[in-house]
Amino acid sequence: MNIDLVVFLACIETAAVAWGFTMWWLQRPLRKKELFLDPKHIWFCTVCTYTYINTKDDVISCCPRCGAYNKKA
Ligand SMILES: [Zn+2]
Repeated sequence: MNIDLVVFLACIETAAVAWGFTMWWLQRPLRKKELFLDPKHIWFCTVCTYTYINTKDDVISCCPRCGAYNKKA
């Protein structure tokens, strides 16, 4: 077997593992965000009945649809 080919295949393998690990790492926070969306970040507008997400820990948030201010109960 040609030594250059062995080195080349080893490089490809390392790159593939690194790429796979990067993809896995990049996907982690996205999945976590979807699965663990805090109920306190889900807002319900009392004026237009629109449900929206505001991840800031505010007591009062502004509805993106009608602009009304909503307060957490
Ligand atoms: Zn609204």
